[in-house]
Amino acid sequence: MHQLTLAEIARGLADKKFSSEELTKVLLARIAQLDPQLNSFISLTEDLALQQAKTADARRANGESGALLGAPIAHKDLFCTQGIRTSCGSKMLDNFKAPYDATVVAKLAAAGAVTLGKTNMDEFAMGSANESSYYGAVKNPWNLEHVPGGSSGGSAAAVAARLLPAATGTDTGGSIRQPAALTNLTGLKPTYGRVSRWGMIAYASSLDQGGPLARTAEDCAILLQGMAGFDPQDSTSIDEPVPDYSAGLNGSLQGLRIGVPKEYFSAGLDPRIADLIMASVEELKKLGAVVKEISLPNMQHAIPAYYVIAPAEASSNLSRFDGVRFGYRCENPKNLEDLYKRSRGEGFGPEVQRRIMVGAYALSAGYYDAYYLKAQKIRRLIKNDFMAAFNEVDIILGPTTPNPAWKLGAKNSDPVAAYLEDVYTITANLAGLPGLSMPAGFVDGLPVGVQLLAPYFQEGRLLNVAHQYQQNTDWHTRTPTGF
Ligand code: GLN
Repeated sequence: MHQLTLAEIARGLADKKFSSEELTKVLLARIAQLDPQLNSFISLTEDLALQQAKTADARRANGESGALLGAPIAHKDLFCTQGIRTSCGSKMLDNFKAPYDATVVAKLAAAGAVTLGKTNMDEFAMGSANESSYYGAVKNPWNLEHVPGGSSGGSAAAVAARLLPAATGTDTGGSIRQPAALTNLTGLKPTYGRVSRWGMIAYASSLDQGGPLARTAEDCAILLQGMAGFDPQDSTSIDEPVPDYSAGLNGSLQGLRIGVPKEYFSAGLDPRIADLIMASVEELKKLGAVVKEISLPNMQHAIPAYYVIAPAEASSNLSRFDGVRFGYRCENPKNLEDLYKRSRGEGFGPEVQRRIMVGAYALSAGYYDAYYLKAQKIRRLIKNDFMAAFNEVDIILGPTTPNPAWKLGAKNSDPVAAYLEDVYTITANLAGLPGLSMPAGFVDGLPVGVQLLAPYFQEGRLLNVAHQYQQNTDWHTRTPTGF
């Protein structure tokens, strides 16, 4: 039962082959048995899950239907869940029970999804390896000595290990697509403003976006359908109609124009990944796509720009964690300043502190123009590159990451080495564009992802291309040994 996809679960529930309660029990038992190896959950919500499953079964018995009605999922632990710990992977929020549900959580619950728990993540979503979590590193089910990627590493590892069919993630600079690539999943970062950020604990507000992680594009379509849509509570949410993503999966790729940026194939890319990416292009050509070399000339500036803008916004967003209103408070503060300093010094881990310092520096008087303003100008140039490219092509294709999953601890002493792994993903966040990563093969037994980018609000096009690719390849069906 644990091998079923969301689409198969929906059919099985509709055909009364099993109930949501039965399925939920199977998966909870599987999590209890296997997750100690992976550490992919921070909190399990068994009681809530069983109650939601029973409700979903009752709704189905009353004639209701829906692809998510009774479907088990989990939420990255930065989506606020009412009355349930919402830690953001941090000691700072270890004791925080959210007073309300995030819009994404509420929408999925209303659609009948069953929440099995809250998944592990890099602290405040800062990282690419899920090693900065206060709750410990997550292991990659494909090789337990390797990282699963981050920051949505818990969601990715859990879905890849078949502990559940799908989970939510968030992507500020790649945190859905990169762990998807490193664990052989399909993950989609929607257009900025497509999915409500209300109740999503902010890292970098102008870049953050929630989205689905699942095994197939078909399942990402189902989960995204439940997440997307205008939310008046989020001032950056965009009031655009949400198309029927599942209905669009079978469009023909005849004549689809794929752009492959020449800058993607630089020295930093593992040549074996480059070969797999070109093999995926050949596969899409067989389906009727035409391929064209394009250029994204400002791509080389993306990492420095992102690692100014994201920390700058983080330093502002994280100023609310002061030991006064909620979250961690130090013992016996001597005075107010001591309370602030020690609460933040003890509550935040080293990567978060590093980013707050970099961000505060970049925003400070005298440095603002040189760093923050400059980075914003680069951001615009990067967006302009994409706009020019999308005049010529329908999607942009390339690797999701330059390397497969690295060994646990391998990049711990050198944060910049980890930042460089984000080279292919962060441009979509800087430009606000939708992006998807899908399985494209293996290197040394570790999964490799191919990334597709599309113009604003063309999530449906990404899902269509990925679904057609998955109808003709079987990379996404491979299961890690032992799971
Ligand atoms: N790895 C990037 C960072 O550390 C992206 C993280 C994310 O998308 N949340 O900032």
